[in-house]
Amino acid sequence: MRFDILSLFPEFVEQISAHGVVGRAGERGLLSVHGWNPRDYAEGNYRRVDDRPFGGGPGMVMLIEPLRAALAAMRAADPAPVRVIYLSPQGRPLTQAKVRQLAFMPRIALLCGRYEGVDERLLQAEVDEEISIGDYVLSGGELAAAVLIDAVARLQEGALNDAESAVQDSFEGDGLLDCPHYTRPVEHALGSVPEVLLSGNHAAIAYWRRQQSLGRTWLRRPELLNEAELSKGDRALLDD
Ligand code: SAM
Repeated sequence: MRFDILSLFPEFVEQISAHGVVGRAGERGLLSVHGWNPRDYAEGNYRRVDDRPFGGGPGMVMLIEPLRAALAAMRAADPAPVRVIYLSPQGRPLTQAKVRQLAFMPRIALLCGRYEGVDERLLQAEVDEEISIGDYVLSGGELAAAVLIDAVARLQEGALNDAESAVQDSFEGDGLLDCPHYTRPVEHALGSVPEVLLSGNHAAIAYWRRQQSLGRTWLRRPELLNEAELSKGDRALLDD
């Protein structure tokens, strides 16, 4: 999978492909990240990439032309089809279901805004989709791009050492939150590991984990239960 990053600070996003799961996915040839800086395509001595908003008001707006030229250079470097996504607080929320969809795409370009955002005409002409990482405002789209790449990278086949771990994560499968996890030591000043996890009884462990997942979801994110795939047994547990 290929990511193209259009940003005034592409190295900021490219950095994430040097570490952890994303780094490993890169080393294994599962994904690559390529930066495109609109400033490199801006004209004039000052290589201007922004200007004041028409109608007045605070802040600056990213200019059409440097971004268009950067997008054209990106397409010329690799003519393969590309889905252009603008990271924006006004976009559709990034969910695990959306991440799963994106993980199947061979190529995605992530347009990162700065200042007050990007000239609307560029967005109308070039962007296929807008995505938000939450109902708050960042100063730039780079962190949002990094979040999206990380979430998508770990779903690439072969990126995780144990593919099962992604299936058990929160929001996956039946849509519940994950259960709590413990490791050594069994006894610690901060508490003991629940006995059932040491029992070797797989059915009992699975039952306990399900109970914990349901309980946590009910306490922390009850709205997820409306969409979750619940069995009769799950419903009985919730009713208790
Ligand atoms: N004036 C814009 C608005 O209120 O919709 C916000 C501009 S914000 C200061 C600058 C850039 O940060 C945006 O163009 C966008 O690329 C990025 N950004 C900010 N918040 C974001 C979020 N929640 N999700 C994704 N991108 C975000």
